[in-house]
Amino acid sequence: MKTKTMKSKTLRTLTLSAAMALAGTFAAMPAHASKEKPVIGFSIDDLRVERWTKDRDYFKAAAEAKGATVSVQSADANEQKQIQQIENLISRKVDVIVIVPFNAKTLTTVVAEAKKAGIKVISYDRLILNADVDAYISFDNDKVGQMQAQGVVNAAPKGNYFLLGGAPTDNNAKILREGQYKVLKPLVAKGDIKIVGQQWTNEWLASNAQSIIENALTANKNNIQGIVASNDGTAGGAIAALTGQKLAGKVAVSGQDADLAAIKRIEAGTQTMTVYKPIKTIATDAANLAVDLAQGKTPSFTSKMNNGKADIPTILLTPTMLTKQNVDLVVKDGFYTQAQIGQ
Ligand code: BGC
Repeated sequence: MKTKTMKSKTLRTLTLSAAMALAGTFAAMPAHASKEKPVIGFSIDDLRVERWTKDRDYFKAAAEAKGATVSVQSADANEQKQIQQIENLISRKVDVIVIVPFNAKTLTTVVAEAKKAGIKVISYDRLILNADVDAYISFDNDKVGQMQAQGVVNAAPKGNYFLLGGAPTDNNAKILREGQYKVLKPLVAKGDIKIVGQQWTNEWLASNAQSIIENALTANKNNIQGIVASNDGTAGGAIAALTGQKLAGKVAVSGQDADLAAIKRIEAGTQTMTVYKPIKTIATDAANLAVDLAQGKTPSFTSKMNNGKADIPTILLTPTMLTKQNVDLVVKDGFYTQAQIGQ
């Protein structure tokens, strides 16, 4: 009797420890590893901005070609909405969440929730700060900033400059500003350039950019020679303000994204330059990265970037400066057709 009890007790203990060991193995394993057909959530800050619709389309195409399913959400520049959408993706148990953050600083908790659920997290184009993300993929934004300043300097080597920054919630806006300063600082020190003002543009909105530049023109009695705008949307707002003062084409203005409207303004001579970032490349690389992470593979990275929490494995792609001289690259590269540009 005694032996039997002991036996079954031993068996129970053994079964229990075997189960615990197994559970331990599962906990150590990536929860969704070896998925043939991973499910990816793509949480985009704002699909109302032209470039992000391209990111979405190329990303979906590349991920689906690898057998994945993609669920896209747009937060419409709303911090709370983005957090809720990410929480929803977590409860749907997706394998990977790819995020273009609206606010770099407010996703710490929700990213931790995702990681706890065994979901991989990729920071797309913009770095999520103070969070345990698995990977970051973007263009070299410091270089983009340098190109923007250099483009304006080439067209207006001397004079009064206004720095029109991006959204204060976007880490890229700060990196761009640092890049711009690398070019401008020595010229300010030399006395060639005077920075008469600088401002961030909430939500990167063109309408906000327009009023900032209207005020700057009034404050400086229209005596501004260069506007270092951080993207094409805000450049459009700045150029609308210049048009109001009959100054469009007389003041050098930078941008980035190679938006169709910006390409047309470069052809027309009202915008000095833009920065071309092949969206197909970042979207395809990110899709491959997402599928690799879902399948427990180890992707290769080019560098690391500290986000306040850790050194995040990073891929930084190369941007290209576009002016009237080489603007046709967007057609050669298949970004637009000649018919879209209209000449
Ligand atoms: C991106 C730009 C974009 C801007 C506004 C930045 O983080 O790098 O390409 O124009 O956000 O959406």
